[in-house]
Amino acid sequence: MQQKNHKSIAANLTYSLLDTYNIDYIKCNTSLFFNPIIKSQNAEYMEFSFRKNILGHTLKDNNGITITINSNLDQNRKNFTIAHEIGHLLLHINNDLMFDTESTIFDDNHATKSILEIEANQFAANLLLPDKVLKNQILSSYSMTAIKNTSKVSGQMIYWRIVNFLKDNYDLSEDISRKISNDYVSRIRNCEIKSSLLYQLIHDLSFSNKKVLLNEYAV
Ligand SMILES: [Zn+2]
Repeated sequence: MQQKNHKSIAANLTYSLLDTYNIDYIKCNTSLFFNPIIKSQNAEYMEFSFRKNILGHTLKDNNGITITINSNLDQNRKNFTIAHEIGHLLLHINNDLMFDTESTIFDDNHATKSILEIEANQFAANLLLPDKVLKNQILSSYSMTAIKNTSKVSGQMIYWRIVNFLKDNYDLSEDISRKISNDYVSRIRNCEIKSSLLYQLIHDLSFSNKKVLLNEYAV
């Protein structure tokens, strides 16, 4: 339950901002909201040229709260790192300095990560690409490149977001979820998306049809 809660906090924050600014869900670019979110928490945002391995940190001291991000990151990595720090800001601010490195954010091996880092990463993924946005983009036949260009996130994030979306919403195994995500990201042209299993799952199929589709796919 706790796990679901921080994902829904992130998703609901993005939905409310999309509604406030009257932006269509398929056009979601959460990076436009970073500033208002950080300001609403009375925090400051800064960039600094850290050495390569440091991505950023959230610091609470006598001067207040400051999120500092490595200015040398490419834009998609920077967006994920800022969303991750916003996760710490909203979920874990009672803790002390959070120094984030390659291994706390971008290493795929969850075994090396603390619960706080996993939560901040899941928060970031759901803030940048919440379920309703992802569903609407897939149903509009967006390819991975179209999602990247619209939502300003990396291909790696989209891949993992789809895997976790399938596990959470369709109760699928990690193995099947990865296969479906791999199939989707391999479809380059928008016209190929409608024949992907991901599109068909999200599209309005009856539960029994979904079972048939999944059984065929698992063979
Ligand atoms: Zn962190």
